Amino acid sequence: MAPIVRPILQEASWPIVLLRGLRKRCPRCAERRIWNGWFALATRCPRCLLRFEAESGGFLGAMTLNYAVAISAWAVMLGVVLAATVPDVPVAPLLAASVAILVALPLWFYPRSKTLWAAVEFLVLRSDPDYRTPAYRDPRTRELE
Ligand SMILES: [Zn+2]
Repeated sequence: MAPIVRPILQEASWPIVLLRGLRKRCPRCAERRIWNGWFALATRCPRCLLRFEAESGGFLGAMTLNYAVAISAWAVMLGVVLAATVPDVPVAPLLAASVAILVALPLWFYPRSKTLWAAVEFLVLRSDPDYRTPAYRDPRTRELE
């Protein structure tokens, strides 16, 4: 007799997985208790046991993502201000706004960049043909395996 194996969660579509990452949640199960403070992401999800950093240095992608978001927001702000004020560019307010964007935005986006990158890595992991959704095995059948 085959053991009773039920998936413990429903696999979400890729946009939902990325959205979960943007919302600082586990990309696989949407668990929100994966943070130990603003900067400390747990190693694994307490619910589905997904490992967030697949390998050492795996969050280099998150850093790049955070940098790209900050630079993009700053470039948009700079372009809008320059287009609206040339030739009388307000240098001091522009400098203050630049510092604010390039310091505050990366701090705010930091946890989101990590879980968003974890979501990207999870989607890569899930695309492997050997990937299996975590399953609940009936403990009564465990000794039969
Ligand atoms: Zn999870």
